[in-house]
Amino acid sequence: MTEGDAGATPIRPLVAGNWKMNGLKAALSEALAVDEALAEAGPGVAADVMICPPATMVMVLAELSGMGGLKVGGQDCHINASGAHTGDVAAEMLADAGASAVIVGHSERRADHGESDRIVYQKVLAAHRAGLTAIVCVGETIGQRQAGLTLDVVARQLANSIPDNATAETVVVAYEPVWAIGTGMTPRPEDVAEVHLMIRERLCARFGTDGAGMRILYGGSVKPSNAVELMGIANVNGALVGGASLLAKDFLGIIDAYRG
Ligand code: PEP
Repeated sequence: MTEGDAGATPIRPLVAGNWKMNGLKAALSEALAVDEALAEAGPGVAADVMICPPATMVMVLAELSGMGGLKVGGQDCHINASGAHTGDVAAEMLADAGASAVIVGHSERRADHGESDRIVYQKVLAAHRAGLTAIVCVGETIGQRQAGLTLDVVARQLANSIPDNATAETVVVAYEPVWAIGTGMTPRPEDVAEVHLMIRERLCARFGTDGAGMRILYGGSVKPSNAVELMGIANVNGALVGGASLLAKDFLGIIDAYRG
């Protein structure tokens, strides 16, 4: 458990793996190895662990895993529950397939699909409509950081992407500096701390005790070698992990940061 900024709220961390557009059936063995390791560790791992595979694998992973408490999430959802939206996946479909959460507003969706804060907000509503926790991604580009705009950008994304009725159970925030995703670069610990503190203060101001209890993940080039340092920063309540979640040994190396 880590403490929220308000001081008193114990927060169970979350380590979530985002497989992006990677993973054929054969990769299921990696996810199942994580679940098995969690089963062996039992309460020795003081964090929730989730894998968000491609949509094609959500159902089979949800059906085969769970022995160790591994949770399954989606990577994106449409704002509508059904309709003429070729190729899209509804939050209801993810829930029906066994997902308990969905990532929304990942910077790759914002950049590749032009997703605005307004769309991300609607996707959070869609996730909640389907009973899913929304993992809401925020983060600045390198240009915005160099221009000294990081706190402004993240605060704006936070304010505009999360609905007023969000709770500590229904929303997880993931701070992911865009320039740190998949690059091997990470911000300095004091820079992570500064952004996470600002996020915590905004969440507390807006959502009270729920804001104090909301999980704030750090994402961007988390790996076994830097996990302990990053996860030890104040107001960091877990990680959103891309590349290093694809292999069980790497992902478990990150999860080790939460072993007693
Ligand atoms: C991500 O895509 O959410 C991410 C954090 O990727 P990586 O860990 O590979 O930087």
